[in-house]
Amino acid sequence: MQAHPVITIDGPAASGKSSVARLVAGRRGAIYVNTGNMYRAMTWAVLQSGVDATDAEAVRAAAAAVILDSPVAEGRTQVSVNGRVLGDDELNSDPVNKAVSLVARVPEVRERLVAAQRALACLGPLVMEGRDIGSVVFPDSPLKFYIDASEEVRAARRRAQGHTDQVAERDRLDSTRKTSPLVVPQGAVVIDNSRLTLDQAVEAVLSRLP
Ligand code: C5P
Repeated sequence: MQAHPVITIDGPAASGKSSVARLVAGRRGAIYVNTGNMYRAMTWAVLQSGVDATDAEAVRAAAAAVILDSPVAEGRTQVSVNGRVLGDDELNSDPVNKAVSLVARVPEVRERLVAAQRALACLGPLVMEGRDIGSVVFPDSPLKFYIDASEEVRAARRRAQGHTDQVAERDRLDSTRKTSPLVVPQGAVVIDNSRLTLDQAVEAVLSRLP
């Protein structure tokens, strides 16, 4: 099946990229894909099996047994684990917040999820957001963005959402891991979202699309 165009949006935790990506997808009639939720679902499943997330070998073995799927509903992908769609409470729970960057640094976990993300481009045009979408998942996309914001703004955003996780620590792990660390992808348009309203950030993306 022919692959469709993919707008890639990468950036650190709580930079505002999810809200921007969702609205850009709506405006372009594309499917919105939050790849962070795929890593979160895998983490939730691994924790359910009682594995210590710092033990990479145990994570690899537990993750291999998980059946993860991304059904599309209302213009966006959901994530299911062994046939059950997970809710925001599960995906954003404290244990998942703490462990997700440890699970996401395991190369076999990334290989599986990257393959699943690439396969989604057969469904239709996508707006896909994450950490390595423009650098690793779809490096040939001509439509790449990197949305950044200051550490203070990002920490405040997570607190306002009711989350207490350590944004700085997740960024440190995500930026320093060996396999596909968070980087500004080659050719990406960088948008500093520290002082933009949501509408302005969405417009900053839309205005650069052909
Ligand atoms: O986007 P979100 O903050 O929900 O992502 C949660 C975590 O999933 C990130 O901190 C990172 O460890 C991992 N992730 C990743 N690659 C992606 C998307 C998310 O490693 N493409």
